[in-house]
Amino acid sequence: MTHTATQVRGLVEVVDEHHPEAERVPVLTRARSGTSIMVDTEKTERIRERVRGLLSEGRVEYFIGYEAGSDPLHVSPSFVQQTDEVEHLVWNLMSINNLVTYLKRYRKQRMGLLVKGCDSRSVIELLKLHQVKRENVYLLGVPCTGILDPKKVAARCNPAAILAIREDHDLVFIEVGVEGRTDEPQVLEFEKHDLLFDKCRSCDYPNPLVYDELVGDPVPVRARVGGKFEDVEHLEQSSIEERLSFWQEQFNKCIRCYACKNVCPMCFCAECLWEKRDPQWVTKYPNPNDTFTFHMIRAYHMVGRCTGCMECERVCPVDIPLGTIFKKIEKDCLELFDYQPGLELDVVPPLSTFDEGDQSQEDLLR
Ligand code: SF4
Ligand code: SF4
Ligand code: SF4
Repeated sequence: MTHTATQVRGLVEVVDEHHPEAERVPVLTRARSGTSIMVDTEKTERIRERVRGLLSEGRVEYFIGYEAGSDPLHVSPSFVQQTDEVEHLVWNLMSINNLVTYLKRYRKQRMGLLVKGCDSRSVIELLKLHQVKRENVYLLGVPCTGILDPKKVAARCNPAAILAIREDHDLVFIEVGVEGRTDEPQVLEFEKHDLLFDKCRSCDYPNPLVYDELVGDPVPVRARVGGKFEDVEHLEQSSIEERLSFWQEQFNKCIRCYACKNVCPMCFCAECLWEKRDPQWVTKYPNPNDTFTFHMIRAYHMVGRCTGCMECERVCPVDIPLGTIFKKIEKDCLELFDYQPGLELDVVPPLSTFDEGDQSQEDLLR
């Protein structure tokens, strides 16, 4: 059973830079007919093989991975229940979605899940908060060398004209069709770090921190491009009034679609405050006060929980820099409590514990 659309406009071929034998091994091609055609690769084949095994042994009821998306620059989450559906699964340079968010919906079932380093941090935090049982989740960990940001790719070439994407070490080659010519695609060359999601440019944990087995060898941590908290530090330089005005301007764009909270793996209340009708905490239309309240309360709920997966920012249809809010929280949490969510299973989150030596409320507000 596959729940995702497979209507495809282009064809994409992605290459795995960490394949041990070959430099340029095609991972995924997609036919214009709409069906996905896999070209044999070590990582994708290992995922399929292991998922087939897990399903046939009855270790998991479902497995959640990735399949070809509705255009060449996206993948879609793929829910695999039968062994003959395993062929849908792919791994490529676009596999960004944090699939851990689905655990909250299927927490009573035995699930299998593909996790990258950043995703595995969400699992750790959910385990600490007793939202999932470790024995109910089988984690296939994928060492990750960075995922391409479709917006950055689209800013450099027309997505509809993309024929193939390949990587070779730190370079990415994008083949685009030349209008009226089918024989000679144009090949554009880019530095990979220019096309990566921002979070991948400063990723400290490319290898999963919790897993049952790894698909591929661990990869080295990529050299950082820029500081992790650069945007936060920039905002911290401005006055309170300037910050308020910045965020008011941003939140005025918000249509309160709630995609940011729905995609968040750490937003797991069974009954969401924002969707309650009785009492109704906020109106159902995006008036500025309610929108501001929504974002501020969600931000406070994420203290000590948010692992910085940046899914909220990725899915926002109006490009609000939500990640900056959560990075500010991460930075403050680190400075105040020396705590980073999603790293160690046996360290209690700061808001789940109290120590007499803790700073007083007055100290924190100063
Ligand atoms: S943040 Fe790290 S683990 Fe996550 S997608 Fe980017 S490189 Fe991969
Ligand atoms: S995803 Fe963006 S537009 Fe939608 S509620 Fe969140 S901030 Fe607002
Ligand atoms: S608040 Fe955003 S960055 Fe933090 S865990 Fe949720 S989706 Fe990820």
